[in-house]
Amino acid sequence: MDVVNRYITINNHINIAPQDSDFELKASPLSLSLDPASNVVIVKNLYVSIDPYQLNRMKSFSASQKTSDFAVAIVPGEAIDTYGVGKVVASTNPEFDKGDIVVGLLNWGEFTVIKAGGMLNKLNPMGFPLSYHVGILGFSGLTAYAGLFEICKPKKGEKVFVSAALGSVGNLVGQFANLSGCYVVGCAGSKEKVALLKEKLGFDDAFNYREETDLNSTLKRYFPNGIDIYFDNVGGEMQEVAVSNMNINGRIAVCGVISEYLDSEKRAAPSTIEVIYKRIKIQGFLAGDYLNIFGDFLSTTCDRLRTGKIQPLEDISDGVESIPSAFISLYRGQNIGKKIVKIAEE
Ligand code: NAP
Repeated sequence: MDVVNRYITINNHINIAPQDSDFELKASPLSLSLDPASNVVIVKNLYVSIDPYQLNRMKSFSASQKTSDFAVAIVPGEAIDTYGVGKVVASTNPEFDKGDIVVGLLNWGEFTVIKAGGMLNKLNPMGFPLSYHVGILGFSGLTAYAGLFEICKPKKGEKVFVSAALGSVGNLVGQFANLSGCYVVGCAGSKEKVALLKEKLGFDDAFNYREETDLNSTLKRYFPNGIDIYFDNVGGEMQEVAVSNMNINGRIAVCGVISEYLDSEKRAAPSTIEVIYKRIKIQGFLAGDYLNIFGDFLSTTCDRLRTGKIQPLEDISDGVESIPSAFISLYRGQNIGKKIVKIAEE
C-alpha cells in the first residue's frame, strides 16, 4: 500500500528570525510494503516536538552544529528530525510490531522511516496522554530535572531565578524547585504569563522582563538577599545581571540562550571577577547527557503528576501544516508551555 507523506522542510538556511516563507510543505509517496530484508520501521507520527534549538540547526553556521548528533545542520529541502511519539504502521525490524506506540527521533511530517539503529523505543504511556511523553515526561522534563537537580542541587530555602519561566523547560524548573522548598521567581514576556506563573504554577513571584527598564535593579527588587540558583534559558543581558545578583557559591545552569539565537553578534559577558570571588559555578549542559537518570526522572515526575503536585502545561497546534507557525511562535513568545504539534489521531 502507498500513502502520501507530507513533511516540512526549510527553503534556505535561516540566520535571522524565522518566517513562514522560510518553510515549505512537501509531499512524496511512501510505500508501506517493505522488503522483508530491510530491517525498517515506518511510524505514523502522532505528536512532534517544537523546540528553539532547531533554529541553530537551520543556520548556515552555528558553533552548536558539530557538538552532538542531535545538533547537526539541517539541509534545505530535506526532512527535519525531532523528538516525537507515533504508531508503527509497518515493520521488518523484529523489535517492533505494527500497532506499537513508540517514542524517539521522528520528523516534522506525517510519517517517519526509521532504519536499524535509529533512536526509537516502545512507549508505555502509563495512563498519561501521549503528548505528555513529548514534553513533561520527555526531553523538556528531563532538561528541567537534570539542570536543576544534577547541576544546581537546590537546598530548602534557597532563592531560585528562572528565565523564560512559562516555557516548556522553565515552568517545570520552577515547579520542581518549589517542591524542593525553594523561593522561586520567574520572568516571562507578558502580563498574562506572569499571572499564570503566580496563580497556576505556584511561583512565589514573577515579572514581565519586557516592562523593566533596568534589569539589574529589577533583580535587586525581587532578590534583596541575592540569588542562589539561576536557571538560564535566555543568555544575553539577563545572564549578566543574574551573575551580578548571585550569592557566594551560587550555581547557574546554562540551559539555553534563546536571546542570542537570532543575533550571532550577541553574547552574554558576565563579570568574571564576580564569578571568581563569589565562587559561582556556571555550567552548560545537554539533556541527552543525562539519559542515565531518565528512570528516576520519570518515576518522580509521574508520581507528582498523579498526586497533582505538578501541573502539565501544553500548547498544542493541529496538523503538519501548522509546524512552521508553531516554531515561529517560540521566537515571538507566543507559546504557553510545551509547544507540540498533533499530527494525527492514534
Ligand atoms: P520555550 O521556553 O517553551 O519557548 C521559548 C520562549 O523563549 C518563548 O516563549 C519566549 O518566552 C522566550 N523568548 C523568545 N525569544 C526571546 C528573547 N529574545 N529573549 C528572551 N526570551 C525569549 O522553549 P524551551 O523548549 O523550554 O527552551 C527554553 C530554552 O532551553 C531555550 O534556550 C532552549 O534552546 C533551551 N533548551 C536546552 C536544552 C538542553 O538540553 N540544554 C533542552 C531543551 C531546551 P517569553 O515570553 O518569556 O519571552
